[in-house]
Amino acid sequence: MKTVLITGAAGFIGSHLCDRFLKEGFEVIGMDNFLTGSPDNIAHLFGDPKFRFVQYNVTNYVYVRGAIDLVLHFACPASPVDYMNFPIQTMKVDSLGTLHTIGLAKAKNARYIFASTSEVYGDPAVHPQREDYWGYVNPVGPRSIYDEAKRFSEAMAMAYHREHGIDVRILRIFNTFGPRMRVNDGRVVPNFILQSMKGEPLTIYGDGSQTRSFCYVSDLVEGVFCAAIHENLAGQVLNLGNPTEVTILDLARRIKALLGSQSEIIFRPLPTDDPRQRCPDIGKARGVLNWNPAVGLEQGLKETIAHFSRRLKEPASTK
Ligand code: UDP
Repeated sequence: MKTVLITGAAGFIGSHLCDRFLKEGFEVIGMDNFLTGSPDNIAHLFGDPKFRFVQYNVTNYVYVRGAIDLVLHFACPASPVDYMNFPIQTMKVDSLGTLHTIGLAKAKNARYIFASTSEVYGDPAVHPQREDYWGYVNPVGPRSIYDEAKRFSEAMAMAYHREHGIDVRILRIFNTFGPRMRVNDGRVVPNFILQSMKGEPLTIYGDGSQTRSFCYVSDLVEGVFCAAIHENLAGQVLNLGNPTEVTILDLARRIKALLGSQSEIIFRPLPTDDPRQRCPDIGKARGVLNWNPAVGLEQGLKETIAHFSRRLKEPASTK
């Protein structure tokens, strides 16, 4: 394996994947249209002879010159705030974008890694979520733009696997956090950190008893890399995430404590179809990849806080 195409390369996870694949000696072609990604995330890679960047929207037909061994389709708004702001683009990137990138993988005889999500499980009735759970998704609710597009993409990937024998791997990524998340991303970790830093109230949606399990980005990237280079995972689905589950109220208290913040905690209405609970069963990934998240929530939050502090001191700190 020599060359990898990463869509969403300027995004939070995509940019860390570019770093990792370059470090492992790959030629990396990064693609992004900067809808929610930022050139800041990959600026340090410009000038690296093994890195090539193409500003492009993969909802259009994708053509790339030369050999490609691996395609990682990671382009997609991932914050609920973003995908609700960009509903059509979100649906297109995980339907047309999946079709085009998997078509490219077929033409290049490349392996295809699809960045799916815990959202395919919807508001899950089974807990923790295992890969063989089919989910509980409202097909016409406000989150369906993201959930159903990801589900469609999974079905598309499997169709190409069954029909054309493409080596596809579907990775269901659970809540991930860390440096390079945008300060104004809208997801819960950036919101609470920013609010605590500014002494503003921490906005809990609902009563804060809903749960999430937060994976630090370096652990996630390690899992993606292992899944991508594994020799024998064609047609497999894997959960990737950290199974340590916390309530959102607990998360707010921890972030406040880490920052020594005096901010109050206020409660806002719970968004429609906000999942009540979410926790990955990562038994399959542990067994198959010999992978295990290593960074605890507190350590990861400290790193993320340090990143946010740096970003806020920069002049253009909105991304
Ligand atoms: N949330 C919250 N306050 C915020 C942002 C999010 O209470 O300022 C809640 C949200 O309703 C959800 C959880 O935190 O229950 C995680 O939200 P996030 O947007 O990070 O991602 P999700 O896991 O819902 O995709």
